[in-house]
Amino acid sequence: MINSLRGFRDLLPPESDLFARIEAAAREVFGLYGYQEIRIPALEKKELFVKSTGDTTDIVEKEMYAFTDGGGREVAMRPEGTPGIVRAYIEHNLGQTGRSGKYFYIGTMFRAERPQAGRYREFTQIGAEHIGNPSPAADAESISMLIRLLEKLGVEGCSAEINSLGCAECRKAYREILLAFLRARAEKLCEPCRGRIERNPLRALDCKIDGPALAEAGPKRSLCPSCTEHFDRTQHLLAAAGVSYKVNPGLVRGLDYYTGTVFEVRTTALGSQDALCGGGRYDDLVKSMGGPVAPAIGWAIGEDRVAMLLKDKPAPDNAPRTFIVAAAKEAGDKAFALLTSMRAAGISSDFSNFELSLKSQMRSADKSGAAFALIIGEDELKAGTCAVKSLKEHGDQQTIPLPDAPSHIKQLLKG
Ligand SMILES: [Zn+2]
Ligand SMILES: [Zn+2]
Repeated sequence: MINSLRGFRDLLPPESDLFARIEAAAREVFGLYGYQEIRIPALEKKELFVKSTGDTTDIVEKEMYAFTDGGGREVAMRPEGTPGIVRAYIEHNLGQTGRSGKYFYIGTMFRAERPQAGRYREFTQIGAEHIGNPSPAADAESISMLIRLLEKLGVEGCSAEINSLGCAECRKAYREILLAFLRARAEKLCEPCRGRIERNPLRALDCKIDGPALAEAGPKRSLCPSCTEHFDRTQHLLAAAGVSYKVNPGLVRGLDYYTGTVFEVRTTALGSQDALCGGGRYDDLVKSMGGPVAPAIGWAIGEDRVAMLLKDKPAPDNAPRTFIVAAAKEAGDKAFALLTSMRAAGISSDFSNFELSLKSQMRSADKSGAAFALIIGEDELKAGTCAVKSLKEHGDQQTIPLPDAPSHIKQLLKG
């Protein structure tokens, strides 16, 4: 037999239901905030991710599923969603449509990480990108929408940690100071950081080994007046939206394209150590990928992590409401018609096998979790009726005309 690949998995019910519920909630929240869906391809040119995500990031350097296809093209499975959205935005001139520039995506991403508990090489992300709006209100809206989504799903104790990395000018000035600082203590850094000081000194900030010490003792960022004002405004608006947040000057995000506001969302359900998800501004990315000047902000959240938090919460009842049983050989046609009319009336209904014995079909009905069994036997077949039997409580069996069954069951389900 052939098994699935390591780090890849089948999402089985009831977990698949949980994922569907998360996605439905996300779509609803996106609708409220005016975000529209873009479905991007899973496979892109490799250079898209090298140029946008950054060639010194772990994602691109170590984890990307990149290969040469049969036609000799360098391609890669998408490791994250933002580059594809930005490419689509540029390729289809979406900035010229006069629309809001708010997009969301839901899809699987691929990273060849070492498989460990709760981490998969193919995982589903939900992401939101607001492209073309430099306003602090776009930042505050993006962050508060993310928290709204988590609250809607029942994730408790959500709060944001925010920081500003500043504009290109701010970053350049900080990069110089940090570079000098790192050069002076290069021998104390971990191997990979030492190797990339010159190429990308900022990467050391989110190194798991050197990052914490740097946050503590490294040079502090200072923002230009315009970045200071933007960050202040963002905080005022977050407060106005009732978002619980805290400024964390040590917060950086491990992708090259972030500028200005970056953020992470934490939940008391995970403890304070781990961020649930995050995002940030990327004001220069669209332009640097060959598009127009289009400041942007976005975030992404892994569905697996959210699903883990929701696993123990009671799931909605997916059992059918009625179970149709044919208790006579010739009753199969009528039973199947009844099944069809119940479903047409919006009442979820199921059956097992009309050819089997009454006893066997009733056993399946009990197992299904349905509230009522609707049984057509010889007498009912003659009279054009069906018997209604409650599977949850003892009660008299009622007999009702077949055409009345949907409305009758609706009444019973209400009561
Ligand atoms: Zn600045
Ligand atoms: Zn390091």
